[in-house]
Amino acid sequence: MDGKRILDICKKCGARCCKTGSADLTKKEVDRIRGSMPDLKFVKLRNNHYWIETGNDGICKCLKKDNSCKIYNLRPNFCRCWPVFLKLKKNREEYWLANCALAKELGKKDIEKMKLICEKMPRDLFRNYWGSANLSKKAENELKKELENFKGKTI
Ligand code: SF4
Ligand code: SF4
Repeated sequence: MDGKRILDICKKCGARCCKTGSADLTKKEVDRIRGSMPDLKFVKLRNNHYWIETGNDGICKCLKKDNSCKIYNLRPNFCRCWPVFLKLKKNREEYWLANCALAKELGKKDIEKMKLICEKMPRDLFRNYWGSANLSKKAENELKKELENFKGKTI
């Protein structure tokens, strides 16, 4: 599926995923984005694990009013592979597809491409560090509820 089609679907959805706590990214990705967006701020969660700054409502600061992404061509791998996600189990890893408008339109090839992106990402990016983000307690609870709505399935 081409980028324009993805963008159309995501704008129509209202960019739900970009409103649930921004994207996780590596230092290398931070440096790449900073080169073009010097004013954008990042939150360091752990070593080599950052977040793009959100408001305390949990909305990514790169989201534009029309629900498109300010840094679409530079967006982190985390955004490129979503709605595919890697779930880390004790002794194994499981790919998971979130329940959203884009997921319903993806073909097998698209999903395989997204899995490959996940495969190459540091595993730490798939671990949640809510406690380190700058969200209000109310926003954190609302976002957790919204994330549950993505439910999804193992693929
Ligand atoms: S990836 Fe899914 S949840 Fe995110 S904006 Fe696109 S359709 Fe919406
Ligand atoms: S970087 Fe762009 S695509 Fe990624 S969460 Fe932010 S607004 Fe969404």
